Amino acid sequence: MHRLVFLGPPGAGKGTQAARLAKDLGIPHLSTGELLRAAVAAGTPLGRDADRFIRAGHLVPDDLVVQILSERLARGDAGQGFILDGFPRTRAQAEALARITPLDRVLDFVIPESLLLERLTERRSCPKCGTVFNLKTRPPRSDAICDRDGSALVLRSDDRAEAVRTRFAAYREQTAPLTEYYRAKGILAPVDATGAPEVVEERLRRAVTGAPSEGL
Ligand code: AMP
Repeated sequence: MHRLVFLGPPGAGKGTQAARLAKDLGIPHLSTGELLRAAVAAGTPLGRDADRFIRAGHLVPDDLVVQILSERLARGDAGQGFILDGFPRTRAQAEALARITPLDRVLDFVIPESLLLERLTERRSCPKCGTVFNLKTRPPRSDAICDRDGSALVLRSDDRAEAVRTRFAAYREQTAPLTEYYRAKGILAPVDATGAPEVVEERLRRAVTGAPSEGL
C-alpha cells in the first residue's frame, strides 16, 4: 500500500512530484496548502483564521490543519493509499497523524536552501487547476496565462521574498526535525531533489519502491 508523506522545504518540488505520482498510482494527492488556500478562497471560518498565518509565511496552528486534513481524509477516497504533501509539518501534527493512519514511507526531499529562493519567487500558479509554472525554467506558453485553462496565473501571496524567508525558518525549526522522528520509525527515504523534475521523478520512483533509507 502507498500511504506516503512528502517532506521537504518550500519549493523543493513536492507538489509537482506529488501530482504526477498520485495520478500514476491512482491515489489522491492531499496538499494541506491547497486545502487551506481553497478554504481561504471560499471564505470559510477556518479559511479566515488561516489566511493571516499563510500570508506572513507562518505555519497555520496545528488544530486547524489537523481539522482540515482529517475532514479531507474522511471523504473515503484514500482507502488504497494517498500522498500527503506538506503535512505533517510539526511534531504535534505527526503525532496526530499517527492516531489517524499508519504510513508506509516518508519521502524526504533533500535540497540546499540556496537553490530554493528563486524557484519560489519565479513561481506562478494557476488558481483554477493548480498547475505550477516557473517564469525561468517552465514558462507558460503565453505570458501569465495558464496553458491548460487560460486562467490568469498568480504569484502566491506567500511566495513573496519576505514570506519565503519566514517559511524557510519555520521549516528549519519545526519541520526538519521530523526527519529524525521518521528515521527512528524506519520509514524515512531521502530523495535528492536537485535537478530537473524528470530526474527527480526517477529518483523518487526508486525511493518509493526500494527499501527505506536507501537513496542518498
Ligand atoms: P504549501 O502549499 O505546502 O507550501 O503551504 C502553504 C502555506 O500553508 C504554508 O506556508 C503554511 O502557512 C500553510 N500550511 C500548509 N500546510 C501546513 C501544515 N501542515 N501546517 C501548518 N501550516 C501549513
